[in-house]
Amino acid sequence: MIFWLRSDGWNHQSGLGTRSRLVVTQLLLIRPRPQEDELFSSWLVRLAWSNGEKLHVFCRNRLKMSRGTWYRDPDRLAGPETIKLSAAATGLSEDCLLATTLSNYEGALYERHVRDGVARWIMPIGVKNRSRYLHGQQCCVDCLREDAAPYFRRFWRVAFMVACPRHGRLLLDACPSCGAPVSFHEGDFARRFTSDACLITRCSHCLMDLRQHVAPAAEPEFVRFQSDLAAAITTRWSVLPGDTAIYSLAFFDGLHHLLRVLSSNTKTRHIRTLLLHDESQFAFPTPFATSAMRFENLRVHDRYVLMKLLVRVMADWPWRFCEYCHRAHLSRSELMDYRRPCPYWLESEMKWHLNNHSYHPSVAERQAVKGYLSAHGMSCSTNNVARWLGAWYVSHGKERGLAEKPAC
Ligand SMILES: [Zn+2]
Ligand SMILES: [Zn+2]
Repeated sequence: MIFWLRSDGWNHQSGLGTRSRLVVTQLLLIRPRPQEDELFSSWLVRLAWSNGEKLHVFCRNRLKMSRGTWYRDPDRLAGPETIKLSAAATGLSEDCLLATTLSNYEGALYERHVRDGVARWIMPIGVKNRSRYLHGQQCCVDCLREDAAPYFRRFWRVAFMVACPRHGRLLLDACPSCGAPVSFHEGDFARRFTSDACLITRCSHCLMDLRQHVAPAAEPEFVRFQSDLAAAITTRWSVLPGDTAIYSLAFFDGLHHLLRVLSSNTKTRHIRTLLLHDESQFAFPTPFATSAMRFENLRVHDRYVLMKLLVRVMADWPWRFCEYCHRAHLSRSELMDYRRPCPYWLESEMKWHLNNHSYHPSVAERQAVKGYLSAHGMSCSTNNVARWLGAWYVSHGKERGLAEKPAC
């Protein structure tokens, strides 16, 4: 018996009911559920291949998705209509499928999800003719090796995730054999494989199985720090050193700001140089040739180095950070990014410890000093008032009242 499921949720038997303008989707015979933290595109690929069809044709004919689905980033772009169609074809709940998309990070990792264009913390995959030319898709080869049904995790698209929290090894962002970006959905493109012979773990260019690779281990201290960040996404709050609880949005905004400082090739690069020097490492320029370059665009090894520096800066917060800023002769104004607001937990420390501006007395303070000087018969000139307030002034002996300053 074949059932048809309309996208508005009505079930009715095949052949019954009238044809309508609504898209009618057949309930698939094989419907694997998304696994723990599985990425939407990974689930789509497994769904298509387990039903013995090629991915692109399957999405068009079975799921009624638009032709442009794989010409862009489906994990960022999947909207309510796509989710509804996928849910209708598989009998899964829309909430279950929505949790596989990157838009589900909204409110935890960033304030507003950006479907197209530059997105904070989400690495770009760079799609051209359904192929990927950037290295925004990462994977842990050990996780893939252990999976009964290998799949790609959603957090592998987050820029600060550079090591596997479970295995403590660096993630892979390119094929170890040919260097091509990880592009698991291309396994059946222009090939004569039957879909059930496709492997999601195989490089789409040279066909190497990524599970054969052995990734280098990451430092345990760094893996712990990164696990805390991952937990902050789930709980939506974090704890600063000193046991100050903070919302995850403000916390991640501040970390992003610090990573910009650490990775920039402007004057703030001196902090990076000093941190590396203290670890007996050579300083290096990051590939930030233009202001359009972002932390999310960096390859996994560059991000790993910068994230390790971030771990050192965040330890003993804010004292170590301020110490390195002082050593690098950096003030608050040189660390600020005035194009976007800086979270309070970071700006308050910079304002308090790294503010090189001279003291600016308020109008009320000036009036009070003027009143005092006038009452004691001393000069009320602007210069003398500034001197009494400890602000900048011109020293000359003729200024009346200079020698008469009482001890206070
Ligand atoms: Zn792993
Ligand atoms: Zn390859």
